Amino acid sequence: KLENATLKAELGRATWKFLHTMVAKYPEKPTPDDRKTLELFFLSFGRLYPCGDCARHFRGLLKEMPPQTSSRNAAAGWLCEAHNRVNKRLKKPVFDCNNIGDFYDCGCGDDKKAKDG
Ligand code: FAD
Repeated sequence: KLENATLKAELGRATWKFLHTMVAKYPEKPTPDDRKTLELFFLSFGRLYPCGDCARHFRGLLKEMPPQTSSRNAAAGWLCEAHNRVNKRLKKPVFDCNNIGDFYDCGCGDDKKAKDG
């Protein structure tokens, strides 16, 4: 099947939005289990992302810069840098990772820190 750059870019935008929003909600003080879960998430993501070339590049990136899981800030900073590496490769503008602050808001409100959430 032919490549469709529009669909590929749309998937990329939706995925980055999800990933950045996910780490913006990662605990500030993660447990060892939280940390393992995030690390395994990105390893699985690198295997499963449906754009094969993108996934292959991302796996290379994970080797060079392993996911930072020690805190929300560390994880958000790491993902921002990883996205910037992709931006550079695709000749897109880089994002100022110091300004990531509240840029990614899930809109979930204070979904009452339930034990499972
Ligand atoms: P996107 O890069 O999708 O970014 C969306 C928005 O996020 C931007 O408009 C900006 O507001 C914000 N943003 C930008 N940079 C950052 C940052 N560093 N941190 C936080 N927020 C930021 N496409 C390919 O053609 N080849 C590839 O090899 C490829 N690899 C990819 C690998 C992964 C893991 C993913 C998720 C996507 C990949 N893509 C790839 C898609 C590509 O990265 C873009 O998503 C797509 O080209 C659309 O680009 P865009 O200009 O809309 O902005």
